[in-house]
Amino acid sequence: MSAQLLEGGPVADRIKQNIIDRLSGIPEGKRPKLAAVLVGDNPGAKFYAKGQEKGCQEVGMRYELVALPEETTEGDLVGRLNDLSRDDDVSGIILLMPVPEHIDGQAMQRIIDPLKDVDGVHPVNLGRVVQGSTDLAPCTAQAVLELLDEAKVDCYGAEVVIVGHSEIVGKPTALLLLDRFATTTVCHIGTSDKGMLEKHTTGADILIVAVGVAGLIKQQHIKPGAIVIDVGTNRKKDPETGKTRIVGDVVAEDALEVASLVTPVPGGVGVVTSAMLLKNLVAAAELQGKL
Ligand code: NAD
Repeated sequence: MSAQLLEGGPVADRIKQNIIDRLSGIPEGKRPKLAAVLVGDNPGAKFYAKGQEKGCQEVGMRYELVALPEETTEGDLVGRLNDLSRDDDVSGIILLMPVPEHIDGQAMQRIIDPLKDVDGVHPVNLGRVVQGSTDLAPCTAQAVLELLDEAKVDCYGAEVVIVGHSEIVGKPTALLLLDRFATTTVCHIGTSDKGMLEKHTTGADILIVAVGVAGLIKQQHIKPGAIVIDVGTNRKKDPETGKTRIVGDVVAEDALEVASLVTPVPGGVGVVTSAMLLKNLVAAAELQGKL
């Protein structure tokens, strides 16, 4: 079998176009504004910030980078996040990760007003995911569902296996799919350590992988004809060229050989996740009564 690629680009473009349409006629100064808080100088965090700024520009939303020095204390950061939460001009707040080691990033995310939590990581928003709400659900979990919808995949009664149980991807994705009546299994390091990963993944009609280990999922893990959603984003150095490239958690050639539908890395889940952040920013403004 030769699988088809389920590209994220067209899905992301459609989401962005919907936002452009939604905001048409709204003066620039009244459009949603994202405040991105960067503490220190981490290249990964700065890279995300650039992408978010570009995304906001593309759909005509406002963006402000709040850059704080490396030595910012948790107390200072709490103050800034509270100020932004109270600022009526700000519709969404994101704390760029990773933060410096002396700061507890997760604790700081809990300071953000849940109605402005466009990352969907505040316990209130994660709690709402339990109740089936996607208003401000984590962007990647929403992106996975959006890709499945794009491919018109019927999740009802489907065997779904998710590898990875993080709070931002594995767990919320599992909860949202349970709401669609998928039979959902979540695997993690414990599954692998007990040698049970392949037993579970080979039963999956839909296999979603969010681990962060390049090439973890090989041909023998994939049921013939399965749909494979590869969330993993890993930097891998090519031994021949010495160049670094981005690869997923799934061996792409293997998945293309045996599955029916595969998301590419890059160009799959990641681009839809970025668009979902913009969608969440609009949703946040609406929930605050600003749109
Ligand atoms: P995480 O790093 O918080 O957790 C990793 C998960 O993988 C845990 O559940 C752990 O138990 C499991 N795991 C680790 N080794 C394993 C193994 N050998 N077998 C089975 N399970 C194993 O996870 P995360 O933050 O969701 O990130 C996972 C990957 O997804 C990373 O590559 C990250 O960069 C990527 N990611 C991509 C996007 C995107 O938009 N494309 C968004 C978020 C995360």
